[in-house]
Amino acid sequence: MALLSVEEALARVLDGIAPTPAETIMIENARGRVLAEPLRALLTQSPFDASAMDGYAVQAADVATIPATLAIVGEAAAGHPFHGTVHAGQAVRIFTGAPVPTGADTVVIQEDTARSGDTVVVNEAEPKGGNIRTRGFDFREGDVLLSAGRRLGPREIALAAAMGHRPIAVRRRPRVAILSTGDELVPPGARPGPGQIVSSNHLGVGALCEAAGADVQQLGIARDTREDIVARLSNADGADILVTCGGASVGDHDLVAPALEAQGMSLAFWKIALRPGKPMMFGRLGAARVMGLPGNPVSSMVCARVFLIPLIQALLGDTAPPTAEQQARLAVPLDANGPRQHYLRAVSVSAGDGMPVVTPVRSQDSSLLSLLAEANCLLVRPPGAPAAAAGELVPVLPLDF
Ligand code: AMP
Ligand code: MG
Repeated sequence: MALLSVEEALARVLDGIAPTPAETIMIENARGRVLAEPLRALLTQSPFDASAMDGYAVQAADVATIPATLAIVGEAAAGHPFHGTVHAGQAVRIFTGAPVPTGADTVVIQEDTARSGDTVVVNEAEPKGGNIRTRGFDFREGDVLLSAGRRLGPREIALAAAMGHRPIAVRRRPRVAILSTGDELVPPGARPGPGQIVSSNHLGVGALCEAAGADVQQLGIARDTREDIVARLSNADGADILVTCGGASVGDHDLVAPALEAQGMSLAFWKIALRPGKPMMFGRLGAARVMGLPGNPVSSMVCARVFLIPLIQALLGDTAPPTAEQQARLAVPLDANGPRQHYLRAVSVSAGDGMPVVTPVRSQDSSLLSLLAEANCLLVRPPGAPAAAAGELVPVLPLDF
């Protein structure tokens, strides 16, 4: 089978993907979720003309000539409006956040005044409207301020709450079920016997999926038999994506594809022109997509980052995912690339001119989880890319999000 390009493989992975159904949750639980519908303001902010400072609410005409002596007729504090009217020659003591009383059109700040009993002397002129946040200064009822597909971070949550929302419609988290396969694997924390190795992929890939906004179900470690693979996969609970790690190549013990094909999976492809991680499987089983990641720990993380994370983002309908490709400036020269798209493990640091500077880690051996942990991005080298000089711009995929 000819090697598929990463681009073509990704297009096939994303083909026909529709966002997950909407569900309603409370705004206080919404961090990291993606809006299913545009959010329209239910309220106007500021809800009333409010004082922006501590001082005195006055009529501008009274403080056009200074010093001006005014009679203090009352007080307005946040949550405690003054219910009377401010007439010419009068002032109301006012605090930040209090409604500006009827009749007043300006607030003079406390620092520009001197109070004595029930009179105040204003020593600095203030133009009409000074120190007042007018009603609707931030937004008005009916304004659409957050569009569908917006990921809710702290700033969006503060805005949505101020807009008057509590229940909000977000995309259901995509459900990812993950199965490790291999007779040699023992669970994390267990001491490997002769010829055994700790299964690490399922946790790394699972954490990556969770960071992208998915719910993860771990299906454990399957022995290298068709029966165990099928039995464990059948425990997947309404998964949108079934992920297997290992056993996806063409060796005698690579049983994932035959086992799943016997269950009715349609297999979409096998081998992709990328490094690290050529053998990869993709298919459908009922409503679920199936992604068979390579067993090699670094390859499985790279393939998950390149194919699984965009699939999760598409299921979320996220319009500006934090996982999107970025640009960085090469710190060192690079050799020409071979025929496969190479994802170099690399460290990107911010630089003075705003463009991050990226350096590959010291070895690209695909077994090195220690260096994958040092990296914070994958530096993308397209197939056949010529040698690159230090200072050139290159695409990078962030690993931290
Ligand atoms: P496979 O794709 O099953 O041929 O596995 C390729 C290599 O990755 C072998 O050295 C496996 O021992 C290793 N491997 C497979 N699955 C895992 C896993 N879940 N965690 C860590 N290493 C794994
Ligand atoms: Mg195996």
